Amino acid sequence: MDKITATQNLDDIIIRVEGARLKISEHHIVKIIGISKYSTSKEVEVLYNVGQRAFGENKVQDLKSKSEALDEFPIEWHFVGTLQKNKINNLIDLNPTLVHSIDSLELAQELNKKLQAKGKKMSILLQINSAYEESKSGVMPETAIETYKQILDTCPNIRLKGVMSIGAHVEDEKVIKESFKTTKKIFDELSPLGAKYCSMGMSSDYELAIASGSNMIRVGSTLFKD
Ligand SMILES: *Cc1c(COP(=O)(O)O)cnc(C)c1O
Repeated sequence: MDKITATQNLDDIIIRVEGARLKISEHHIVKIIGISKYSTSKEVEVLYNVGQRAFGENKVQDLKSKSEALDEFPIEWHFVGTLQKNKINNLIDLNPTLVHSIDSLELAQELNKKLQAKGKKMSILLQINSAYEESKSGVMPETAIETYKQILDTCPNIRLKGVMSIGAHVEDEKVIKESFKTTKKIFDELSPLGAKYCSMGMSSDYELAIASGSNMIRVGSTLFKD
């Protein structure tokens, strides 16, 4: 991916995000996270040089290698993948800006324990399986609010900042939108408890996600395409 392509890809996303967010409100700000899991650190650097500042990975090892390779740039790194318990300490040591994918109370408590042992804090989102798909991680919508409160009550070293969902993996836009609306409704109920981010929307559905209230999108293939 050269500089011209990177500029076009990013401009295209920014224009679409602008269109979608302004339909809600001028004050509805949407943060774009570039998911670099299928790309090289060189490609991340190209996108950094045309203005993208936040990137995310779905494997702890890849987050480590890319963040170390690009150490000289003030990049904000996010983690969006399934977190295995034996990788928690490695993730903590990388100081990610935000971990989107905490998908159970048990995992949050294990993370909290390891944060306490290191005297550190971490910002996270609770992942919700609003599409009700077995292949997806996340707490069920019916238990999300209770789990969110339990994390707030029992995990002092976790800064719980909101919710994350992956849209339904289907063609029917109505079904995808329904899954986003489910997450947005939960997010609205949690905002009095300090929820700030509603992370939803990927390359194929981010405009739909923004229309449903997302304020953080995670775009990979469409941002890094050649
Ligand atoms: C890969 C991934 C993305 C980006 O997916 P694209 O369809 O390539 O935009 C977003 N979120 C998560 C959790 C991912 O694993």
